[in-house]
Amino acid sequence: MLRLTELTLPLHHAQEALPAAICKRLRISPRELIRHVVARRAHDARDKTNIKLIYSVDVNVKDESAVLARFRKDRNVQQTPNTSYKFIMQAPAGVKRPVVVGAGPCGLFVGLVLAQMGFRPIILDRGKVVRERTKDTWDLWRRGVLHPESNVQFGEGGAGTFSDGKLYSRIKDPRHLDRKVLTEFVKAGAPPEILTEAHPHIGTFRLVTMVESLRETIEGLGGEYRWQHKVDGLDIKTDGSGERCIQGVHLSDGEYIEADRVILAVGHSARDTFAMLHAAGVHVEAKPFSIGVRIEHPQSWIDTSRFGADAGNPILGAAEYHISHHCKNGRTVYSFCMCPGGTVVAATSEEGRVATNGMSQYSRNERNANSGFVVAIDPARDYPGDPLAGLAFQRHWESLAYVAGGSNYRAPAQRVGDFLAGRPSTALGSVVPSYRPGVTPTDLAQCLPDFAVEAMREAIPVFGRQIKGYDHPDVVMTGVETRTSSPVRFTRGDDLQSLNTRGLFPAGEGAGYAGGILSAAVDGIKVAEAVAQSLKP
Ligand code: FAD
Repeated sequence: MLRLTELTLPLHHAQEALPAAICKRLRISPRELIRHVVARRAHDARDKTNIKLIYSVDVNVKDESAVLARFRKDRNVQQTPNTSYKFIMQAPAGVKRPVVVGAGPCGLFVGLVLAQMGFRPIILDRGKVVRERTKDTWDLWRRGVLHPESNVQFGEGGAGTFSDGKLYSRIKDPRHLDRKVLTEFVKAGAPPEILTEAHPHIGTFRLVTMVESLRETIEGLGGEYRWQHKVDGLDIKTDGSGERCIQGVHLSDGEYIEADRVILAVGHSARDTFAMLHAAGVHVEAKPFSIGVRIEHPQSWIDTSRFGADAGNPILGAAEYHISHHCKNGRTVYSFCMCPGGTVVAATSEEGRVATNGMSQYSRNERNANSGFVVAIDPARDYPGDPLAGLAFQRHWESLAYVAGGSNYRAPAQRVGDFLAGRPSTALGSVVPSYRPGVTPTDLAQCLPDFAVEAMREAIPVFGRQIKGYDHPDVVMTGVETRTSSPVRFTRGDDLQSLNTRGLFPAGEGAGYAGGILSAAVDGIKVAEAVAQSLKP
């Protein structure tokens, strides 16, 4: 089979235009084209008066070698890559069960792949099964009651469960491990389009049923989950050669589980766990992340700005944007984790703090678009020295946001017009914020560092020139967005084990090796393989 890439057609093309374009491009007659399947579809809306669809198509032709020979110098006509996943081994008999800490996308894929290889992993999570967790999470959103161990960040499915479910990433993935993740997601109930869309998403409701289905698969293969099992200590011994080796984990209820392979997939919000790991001497470094707010615009403004007369076309869906600006003060401001047609959510996991994020349903048909509007932080510049200083930084601004919101989990919010003018908002305008349990109009500058406020004030008009309405005075910002990625990295060696603790495999976003659902899951596969490799007789 051949893969033909960068095949461009107008948005409003007829169905038969695709096979015709394939034949034209390959210089073959329609009779020579046996079959074609769309491998990927993206759109190019840079010129909104002439939006194009860009296809990658897998084609069977009568004489494949002749076509390949004819296009041997053309990188857009190649043999279709083999993206099927091959297990590197099966578990040897009598091997000890690996322990996976965390049931987010990373932990789930470590668990799944280990289970598929026959390792019967034990998966521990501090939170609850996804249905119970959903109720606890809604308690915060509806009633302002936070459950510190069961919330947006903690519990089955991890941080991505109440999200837009965007499933793309910019990681280098020469082994096509993303395909393994997407294929498993489809088996677990995700819509098959995720295999072909360039920017797939699944929305929050489907994610809930998908993680349940993945759980059934893992349990069916001999894996085991234990909920409300928080790891709060590591048993590390130094062997005769002076090497630190993991022997087991301690749980917060006093239980001890022996294990010589422990995978830490704890996500970016497990601050108590980060402190415990640091105290246990596990190698950790500070890592850049970002701070800012969520910004909301009517989705119709974004659609019109991006797609012009084609706004609302179902092929295009709700419009997204990615924008960035390098400021005079040396900071970079950028849009983060955009959720078209979604809602801003309360994402704190700690009492007395407010943190925002975004989510949406598969339909993406809520009134507002939201995205993080954030400023990059550099530990060396902003808080040098202590590897955990980023945690203190996040907590500081989240606490100020809690107070500014009214000390009841309402979030501080401000109209863009007031933010630019440097005056507090006393009321909001035509753009209605979606954050629950609600917002308090105020001055966001009191819960953001000065350098961030300065950079954001510079960037808003710049972004307004790129997206009409971005800088409209009634656009609403809700703060604070502090958890764009992990503030730490638990550095690994080539064998994916901690630099200084054998048998300990830091993984996923919390360890600083992923930034999103797909990349965390891909990292999970790599770590599962590394664990298996380390157990090879
Ligand atoms: P997590 O998903 O954070 O999972 C960590 C797990 O570890 C949790 O279940 C937690 O309970 C458990 N845990 C923590 N400490 C312990 C401990 N000591 N003992 C036992 N268990 C522990 N990414 C996207 O790609 N697309 C999106 O649309 C998107 N939207 C998002 C929306 C929201 C509201 C949020 C919060 C995040 C969103 N993200 C999105 C980011 C994405 O969710 C994360 O990148 C991803 O979940 C990271 O996966 P992970 O498995 O590494 O960690």
